[in-house]
Amino acid sequence: MSDYNLLIDGKMVPGDLTMPVLNPATEDVLAQCPRASKQQLDQAVAAAKAAFPAWAATPIEERRKLVIKMAEAIEANGNELARILTSEQGKPLADATGEVMGMAAFFRYLGSLDLPMRVVENSGDRRVEAYRRPLGVVGAIIPWNYPLLILSFKLPSVLLAGNTLVVKPAPTTPLSTLRFAELVQDILPKGVLNVIADANDLGDHMTKHPDIRKISFTGSTATGQKVMASAAQTLKRITLELGGNDAGIVLDDVDPKKVAPGIFEGAFQNSGQVCLAIKRLYVHESVYDEICNELVAIAKNTVVDDGSKQGTKLGPLQNKMQYEKVKAFLEDAHKNGNVIAGGSAMDRPGYFIEPTLVRDIKEGSRLVDEEQFGPVLPIIKYSDNEDVIRRANATNYGLGASVWSSDTARAHKIASRIEAGTVWINKHLDMAPNIPFGGAKQSGIGTEFAEEGLAEFTQLQIINAPPA
Ligand code: NAD
Repeated sequence: MSDYNLLIDGKMVPGDLTMPVLNPATEDVLAQCPRASKQQLDQAVAAAKAAFPAWAATPIEERRKLVIKMAEAIEANGNELARILTSEQGKPLADATGEVMGMAAFFRYLGSLDLPMRVVENSGDRRVEAYRRPLGVVGAIIPWNYPLLILSFKLPSVLLAGNTLVVKPAPTTPLSTLRFAELVQDILPKGVLNVIADANDLGDHMTKHPDIRKISFTGSTATGQKVMASAAQTLKRITLELGGNDAGIVLDDVDPKKVAPGIFEGAFQNSGQVCLAIKRLYVHESVYDEICNELVAIAKNTVVDDGSKQGTKLGPLQNKMQYEKVKAFLEDAHKNGNVIAGGSAMDRPGYFIEPTLVRDIKEGSRLVDEEQFGPVLPIIKYSDNEDVIRRANATNYGLGASVWSSDTARAHKIASRIEAGTVWINKHLDMAPNIPFGGAKQSGIGTEFAEEGLAEFTQLQIINAPPA
């Protein structure tokens, strides 16, 4: 008997199937997790469809109150959710606690937004009003790097806008999401929120489902392409938040000591498993050696261990597949660059890889050209600003980037020429629910958070009448 259940039609129910979920720090089985059959996914969609008319007709103020109640439930159970998150995801407990509190903050902020009617024209000819109507059933598909935070990027806006929801977490990190579902199930009318879990086998059925009107997907670009193709059959609305290969650009005027900690954090947070992490660091030749040395000093003092141990700064990779993938990037690093910190998997149970810095490496190596999604950073030398802008943009990705300089105006000029949805100056990974977020090029379609993100969960309806 599992401690976890699926949430379908207002009830916590066992899965028709089960699957083991591992602790990535020990490789021990944490729980036998319920796994939905295709029929259970269909039941979840049917429940969401049945709940939709009443939920859509509920005044937004009432829906808001329930979203805020969910934030309260998250806060009240923060310690438990954080512990589950660390055990299944691997991140240090302090970071997991930060993720849970961030989740509650997203619920509170996004739940506070509004969808007012806008008068487009009020003239002697006509009165035209623009309304934002709910879409219907939304499907949310979540990756394993920030299971709860990424859920909070979607859920409050989906429900506030009057839609109902079916959530599918990643197969390796479903437990915190299922526990969250249990904590909030009584807050919402039955069927408004449904949570299932799969073994990477229900995504296709979900994205093709004729009764789902929109898919909000966060994950890799390769899977995002599949989602887009499946959704095309029913012309579903889609928001895709996909992979990245963010460039950090360090100009010649920085103080290396001052910028190194922020760069390290931007690259290695969550053991590099962040869509928006710095994944290629371009450093001007005049400060190249100093930046490399500063980063090495930080890497050598970084405690990599089980996330449940106090003092751990970086946990393991989240799953075996990602661990094997990052090990292949290590091989590439040894072949194509000089490894100046780390460079190996750790000789212990769990999916641990040392924080690795690689200098004297260039484009043409896998580590620079592809998304590593792990704690391995290539540091690339450049000498000319025009050249570094061209190289930063020479990728199909366009999620984020950062420019580091002691002259903000100078950095701003370069930032404006980077093809990315977000460009930071003298920081990386600063996100908040009031700041719209989305990827350029193959890093995504659409926007999340803020008014822009909320609008994406609605259908624009125009009512065009004779003059009043
Ligand atoms: P993934 O694409 O393998 O999986 C993401 C989700 O998609 C999982 O829930 C998975 O079960 C599901 N899925 C698998 N096959 C599917 C299919 N055919 N149809 C629909 N869904 C399917 O990604 P991942 O490995 O879990 O996450 C890492 C990737 O996600 C990285 O590329 C990272 O950059 C990206 N990411 C992007 C953002 C962002 O906001 N842009 C945030 C986090 C992660």
